[in-house]
Amino acid sequence: MFQRKFEWLVERQMGRQSPLPITASPWTLHLHTYRQPLFPNQPRDTCVIWVTALRDNKIGKFVKKSMLECTGREILEELLGHLQFDQDEVEKDEILNTSTCIPCMLPYSISQFLSRAKGDRPPVVPAGSKNFAFLGQFVEIPHGIVFTTEYSVLGAIQAVRKFVKPSLVVPPMYFGQYDPLTCISVARALAR
Ligand SMILES: Cc1cc2nc3c(=O)[nH]c(=O)nc-3n(C[C@H](O)[C@H](O)[C@H](O)COP(=O)(O)OP(=O)(O)OC[C@H]3O[C@@H](n4cnc5c(N)ncnc54)[C@H](O)[C@@H]3O)c2cc1C
Repeated sequence: MFQRKFEWLVERQMGRQSPLPITASPWTLHLHTYRQPLFPNQPRDTCVIWVTALRDNKIGKFVKKSMLECTGREILEELLGHLQFDQDEVEKDEILNTSTCIPCMLPYSISQFLSRAKGDRPPVVPAGSKNFAFLGQFVEIPHGIVFTTEYSVLGAIQAVRKFVKPSLVVPPMYFGQYDPLTCISVARALAR
């Protein structure tokens, strides 16, 4: 039922829209939807979505608690309120009663965005290393943008190139902000 109501709301098939920022939400919710089924063995009559929040300490608009204090059901209730799915109590209850909402805290996830000066993070291949490298989001790749799979993958390619396959070409990091076509589509999206 959630999928049908959502598609009616956005006038698009689920999965054909980017993450939906719910700007009126005190928790700063973002709704991420995908073309269903999301998982190979997912039953056809189910729908999997996820929602992120940046301000879990604020009091919700429809559930008068901080997100941190909420059960999964209450988090879903807040989401349904913002999507105006709470106007039909029967439908709302049916979605609430047939959904599984699993809260998940990622307390350290934004640690990746801590300011980084030269020397704070090790290079992928430390000076003098003959057989080990560092991988992941906390290595230093000059000008690299963390919190992306690209960052981890490029670091891994650099390590493999150094120790396993010197002929490997390390692809350049993508910098969308310098791509005129990307900038135009971002400006268009913002103006919508
Ligand atoms: C909510 C969210 C949304 C994101 N959205 C995007 C996005 O849209 N685009 C994008 O590019 N990136 C996105 N990212 C970031 C991206 O998912 C990560 O940057 C990427 O997965 C990091 O890959 P990794 O292999 O370095 O680390 P991970 O994927 O974290 O893999 C590390 C693995 O090591 C295992 N591990 C940890 N400790 C041990 C141990 N002691 N022994 C054995 N195993 C261990 C972990 O279980 C894990 O499987 C998102 C991240 C989050 C959390």
